[in-house]
Amino acid sequence: MQFGVITLFPEFVTTAVQVGVLGRAVAREQVAIRAVNPRDFADDVRKTVDDRPYGGGPGMVLKVEPTRSALRAARAALPAGSRCVYLGADGAPLTQAKVAELAALPGLLLLAGRYEGVDERLLSTEVDETISIGDYVLSGGELPALVLIDAIVRTLPGVLGDEASAQQDSFMTGLLDWPHYTRPDVFEDMPVPEVLIGGNHEAIRRWRLKQALGRTWIRRPDLLAAKALTAEERALLVEFRAEQVVTDLPPSRD
Ligand code: SAM
Repeated sequence: MQFGVITLFPEFVTTAVQVGVLGRAVAREQVAIRAVNPRDFADDVRKTVDDRPYGGGPGMVLKVEPTRSALRAARAALPAGSRCVYLGADGAPLTQAKVAELAALPGLLLLAGRYEGVDERLLSTEVDETISIGDYVLSGGELPALVLIDAIVRTLPGVLGDEASAQQDSFMTGLLDWPHYTRPDVFEDMPVPEVLIGGNHEAIRRWRLKQALGRTWIRRPDLLAAKALTAEERALLVEFRAEQVVTDLPPSRD
């Protein structure tokens, strides 16, 4: 998959994509990530990329001309069928379903804003959709673009060492992940749940599913409300909830 990122800080993006899973995918040429700077397309001596907002008010706005030239240059290098996404706090919230949808594309052009944002005329003519990574405001679209790239790349075939790894992550089945443990089996009086040591694969599967259901019920009831539960899942959730009542009791006074 190929990515183009339009940014005033190309080194921010090109440095971050050199590490971890992303870095390995780039090194193996499973993905290509190119950053293009609108400043390189500004046609005045000062290389101006921003200007004051019409109507007044604080801050600056990214200008149409250099940003569009950068965008079009980056688009020309991407395969046909690529999509253009603007990262903006006013966009649709990013979800795992959206990540899966975008991961099926041959290429993605990502526009990272700065200052107060980008001239709306560029967004309305060149951008297919706007995506937000959460209900808070960052100083620029580079981190959101990297978040999106990372979330997509780790789902691409052959990128993670173990294909099953991404499949069992939070959100893949509409549930949060279950708790994980590794050695030692007892750490400061806290033992690993016994079922995980017993080697009974069916019991482990049921325990993990129950924990995932319970954790989702506690932390993200909105996800659970949107999921159609199987009879087994329903029964496990009932079990989890019954156990919760016991552990939630206040300490004895005796
Ligand atoms: N005036 C804008 C607003 O209120 O929505 C905020 C602009 S912000 C300071 C600068 C840039 O950061 C935006 O153009 C956008 O590209 C990016 N950005 C900030 N928060 C974001 C978020 N939650 N998701 C995606 N991009 C974000």
